[in-house]
Amino acid sequence: MNQNSKTFSYEETLNFLSDYIKPISEVSQIGIDMALNRVLAEDILNTLDIPRFDNSAMDGWTLSSSDIQQVPFTLKEVGKAFAGHPYEGEVHRGECVRIMTGGKIPNGADTVVMREVVSQKADEITFLKEVKPGQNVRRQGEDIKKDSTCLARGTLLTAPKINLLATLGIASVKVFRKPKVAFFSTGDELQPIGSPLEEGHIYDSNRYCISAMLKEGGFDTLDLGVVMDDPKQLETTLLKAAKEADAVITSGGVSVGDADFMRELIKTHGDLLDFKCRIKPGSPLAFGKIGRCAYFGLPGNPTAAQVTYYAVVSRALKMLSGQGLQKIHLTSATCLDRLKKRPGYTDFQRGILAFENSEPVVRSAGSQKTGGLTSMIRSNCFIFLPETQDSVEPGDRVFVSPFFGACS
Ligand code: AMP
Ligand code: MG
Repeated sequence: MNQNSKTFSYEETLNFLSDYIKPISEVSQIGIDMALNRVLAEDILNTLDIPRFDNSAMDGWTLSSSDIQQVPFTLKEVGKAFAGHPYEGEVHRGECVRIMTGGKIPNGADTVVMREVVSQKADEITFLKEVKPGQNVRRQGEDIKKDSTCLARGTLLTAPKINLLATLGIASVKVFRKPKVAFFSTGDELQPIGSPLEEGHIYDSNRYCISAMLKEGGFDTLDLGVVMDDPKQLETTLLKAAKEADAVITSGGVSVGDADFMRELIKTHGDLLDFKCRIKPGSPLAFGKIGRCAYFGLPGNPTAAQVTYYAVVSRALKMLSGQGLQKIHLTSATCLDRLKKRPGYTDFQRGILAFENSEPVVRSAGSQKTGGLTSMIRSNCFIFLPETQDSVEPGDRVFVSPFFGACS
């Protein structure tokens, strides 16, 4: 790579990619039981008020607020309103109705008193604790109002969102086609697992990790194996990937070593973006396109490959899948260790976030060398140190990006 090439900050890189990456536009209609991790290709409009009707938030008795008196006071139980079995009559003065959580508030009633603060003698119900008009009632439409947009096109369908679709009675939705992501490892030293290691060789670990990270993100994958540092073999594999997939990820071969061919190949067959992203680890990260296929060249060091995937590539793949540029979710914590850093790049140090003495605290996950595996194994968050940040001293507040299942 040209040593004088432009550099972009982390945020500039993501903004640039959000224009550069063209999202998949093909759409299909699928049942919501198949929709986890898919991206909505339509706005979803509420066709119903949620809750659909006033209902009880408690097990107890329902009454009219006009009957509330100084406690204790007594009303007559005239019937039952259980979930799915409404009380058909009207609650008149002096009356109350036994009600269960989710039961429809009958006509004439507007207040619920929980079982625990009531005494019962046959049908005589005595209310023992002060009652506030309207208490313990879930009002029609208080959660979601009819005719508003509840889920926008581009939304990733998670379990709670699928719950909402079902609540609205929506059985199927339009989603974008999943991106298909091809990947291969490069390097003469790499051996696939399953054979005894030869002298000076290592097992190819990145490919299994990239495959797993892509699956975490819900992407379709195409594993193209290990390819030697041979321009002809690399070219053949790259062109196959570009033909069959929406994106291709390689690991290794993108820095400035003699055997680093990937950048030249992308230049020859497509578009190599001539900028370096000011992040650490992973600044050799390469971006480009071959035809319509997006290209991401991860550094070979396993930790650098993982950090660049989570920090940049997974976000770019979300853009490809139709989710647009996602906000970076950060929280803050008190750092208990000294962290070495210089200003000028965004650093994704691996950390261990904990909640101690009612406060979020974070420690370093150990050596931050990117050749080792340990820091990614031990960590549960990135300690996100912005460009302007210098070294961190124990007790300083830092930004933290926790890993939620899939690192995000
Ligand atoms: P490279 O980016 O090709 O110069 O590789 C940098 C370092 O990462 C070297 O020590 C490689 O042996 C190692 N490496 C490259 N690819 C892989 C891989 N697929 N699995 C494990 N280590 C790798
Ligand atoms: Mg290599």
